This record gives sequence, C-alpha cells and structure tokens, in this order.
Amino acid sequence: MAFAAIHPEAGRIDATLQDLGCGLSWAAVHKVRPRIALRCPDCGYGVHAKISTRKLHYFAHDPGRPADCAWLNESLEHHLLKLELATAVRAADWHAELEVRAPDGTWRADVLASSHDGTRRIAWEAQLSPITNDDIRERTERYQDEGIDVCWVSPADGVPWIGTVPSIRARDPRGDRPWTVVDGVAGFYFQHGTWITPTDLDLATFIGWVLHGQTSPHQVLPRYRRIWFPATKSHARRQLIWTTQRSVDEEARHDVMRQRQEARKRQQEEQQRQAEQRRQEEEARQREAQRQEEEHQRKIREAAERARWAEQQRQWAIEAEQARQRREAEDRQRQEQAAAAERERLRQEQHERQASQRWWKELSPAQIQQLRDAVADPLWTKQAARVEFDPDGATADYAYGIAVYLRRRLYGILRPSPASLHRLPPTVPVFVRNAREAQLLTATGKVDTARVVHFDLPDHEQMSLI
Ligand SMILES: [Zn+2]
Repeated sequence: MAFAAIHPEAGRIDATLQDLGCGLSWAAVHKVRPRIALRCPDCGYGVHAKISTRKLHYFAHDPGRPADCAWLNESLEHHLLKLELATAVRAADWHAELEVRAPDGTWRADVLASSHDGTRRIAWEAQLSPITNDDIRERTERYQDEGIDVCWVSPADGVPWIGTVPSIRARDPRGDRPWTVVDGVAGFYFQHGTWITPTDLDLATFIGWVLHGQTSPHQVLPRYRRIWFPATKSHARRQLIWTTQRSVDEEARHDVMRQRQEARKRQQEEQQRQAEQRRQEEEARQREAQRQEEEHQRKIREAAERARWAEQQRQWAIEAEQARQRREAEDRQRQEQAAAAERERLRQEQHERQASQRWWKELSPAQIQQLRDAVADPLWTKQAARVEFDPDGATADYAYGIAVYLRRRLYGILRPSPASLHRLPPTVPVFVRNAREAQLLTATGKVDTARVVHFDLPDHEQMSLI
C-alpha cells in the first residue's frame, strides 16, 4: 500500500491530503468510471485508490504487481506512522511529501519535510524492518550529502541503531495518548549531572521542535553517555541524541566543572603522593641513620670486647708468670730448707758421733768388758743363756749403744749415748754401769726410768787403784 500515486494529468497526488495536493478530491480518483490510469511513483506499475476498514485512504498496486516495488510489502502500521509523521510536519507549517524518491534513486524518503523557503529539508524515516548499523549510517550520509537532514523513527523497542544516528523511538497511541517519543531525546540536568529522557513528549511536538531548530542531534560527551529513563527507571548508553542548545551548554558547563574537579583531585593526589614520597624518604633516611648508629655501637662493643679479651690474656700471662715465679721461689725455698735440714742432720750426726766418742772414752776397755759381763753373767748362771753383743760395737742405729741379742732377738741396748736417745728402738731395756749413768739418761726425758737397768759398777777403775 502507498499514499502517493502519479495522476496522468495532475501528476503526483497524495492520499493523505484533503485535495490530494493538487486541487482534486478523493472522489475524483476513488471508484471512478472509467478508471483513471494511476501509477506507482516507485515502480510505475498501475495502482488504484482504496479505503481501508479504518477509513484510511491509500493506493494499492493492481493485480500482478512486480515483486521488487519498495512500497509493496509495507505494513499498515508503517503507513500509519508515515501518516502521523506527515501530519505533524504539516501541523508545524512545513511542507510534507510522502514516499519521495531521489531523481537518481540514491534515496527514497517516507516523508520529506521542506521549509517554505525551500532552504531546509528533513527526511523522516519510519524504519520498521531490521537494518544494520552500517547500512543506516550509510543511508544517513547519503541524505547529508544531498543537504538533507534525517531522523529515523522506530516504533519498536531495542533496535540497535537508536543513538548511533539521528533517531528516536516513537510509541503508538494508547488510550487518549497520541504518538509519543520515548527514546532518542533527552535534556541535561546540571544538578544531577546527567541526561534524562522526557516522560511525556508528543511526537508532533518533537517534530515541531526539530523543524523550528529548537532541537538538534548532539554527540553526547563520553562521560555522560549513560542516559536515565525515568519511565522505566533504567539507564541506557546513547551516543547521539536530540536535544536543545541549552542542554548542550549545560553539559559542556558540567563537563568543565568535572574536569576542574578531576584536575583538583589529581592535584591533591599528586600532593598526597609527593607527601607520601617525602615521608617514605624521611623514613628511609631515619632507618639509615639508625642502622649507622647501630653499626657504630656494634663496632664500639666489638672493640671493647677485643680490648677486654686482650686485657684478660695479659692478666692471665701476668698471673701465669707470677705463678711460675712463685713455684720457682717455693722450689728454691724447699731446696734451701732441704739443704738446711741436711746440714742440720749432718751437724746433729756429727754432734752425736762426737758425743758418743766422748761417752765411750769415759770407759776403759776393762770397764766396758766389766759392763758386758754384768749383763751376760746372770743369764749364763741362771738360765745358761749366752747373750751376744753386736760385733760392730756402738752404732748409730742403736743410739750409739751396743745391741745385745739373746737367742737371735734384740735383748737390750748397752750404754746408749745420752745425746742420741731419740734413736733408741722402743721397749727393750737399756743397760748402764751405775745410777749416775742412769741418771744421765733419764734426765734427758727421752727414756723411762723403768727401762734403765744399772749394776752399781764404780765410775773409776778401782782395780788399778788396788
Ligand atoms: Zn510500486
């Protein structure tokens, strides 16, 4: 179905206009006999005027139409949207042509809006069929090359190209609400720092704004591309939106403020970083100073320890030397004492020897024999026991007396020297000539009176006196 057709005499006619755009009435083309040879503006095939069940005036291809006509497969919904676009353009006091084809076929507009002075043209495209982003961008550029602005209109949700080319999403009428714009248009709210989509914008109002230059496509600054949709309480990313110059200025003003804030923040961060760096450097410096101080103290301690050790060794050497000298002195003293003791012993021996010589010289050999007999005779007469006198005579071992043996056992000591009584063997009796000699021995305190036996022999040789 289509709204435009070529009349054989009036030229292009428009079913959406009361006079078909050329002073004719609908009745002049609808169900007229003979039939008027209307043609499709796109494919040139024959069309005829029709009225839909919803009282919509349009043209339909005659039976056997070619399959490649651009208008061929367009839906009723598409046509209703085109009709709405054209109606709004005309309400804004612009000229609207439906289903317009470029002379060279490079573009074909659903609705081409033109200002009265002809200086501005805006194509309104009701895009219901799927189209890739690349294709829609290419078609947009094709219009722009011809000096024609364009706005793509989708009635569907979730089309990928909304916000990539000048575009809106229009929602069909519900209840007493006419067509409304629900996506592709936004205003910038400085206090929120964000773009917000209006909740209640009529499509016709929007189209009027576009045609009168109050609203234009705008490349959203990267940081603001998350746009708020109050109706669905959600965000969506949009790169290109329709908006007012005031919003563009507000966005720029906000961006400058944000850049200043960020610059301040960067500056603060840089200052903090520098402060932190200074703090770390100071810490490192203090650690190094502390390390050096500890190293210094350690060296002092080591030097003190070495000195203490050296002093200890020196002390030990002194003590060892002193001990050695002490030992030498003690050795010398012992040797001297031993030598002195030896000298004393020799002196004592000599003394005793001389004393014993004097002791024995007091007696004549006869007197000595007399004493020997005094000891031996009673034993012989009473017991028939013969005593024996040491053939060596007086010896040092028996205190310079003469040992007397009876039956090979020591029986007594004959006349020991008073100076040598400390040499006497114990217990055996001591024989002396008389009480005077006994007195001489006992007076020394070195021999008991009980051990001393005397014979009352005279001190002088009485025999010789006789
Ligand atoms: Zn056609």
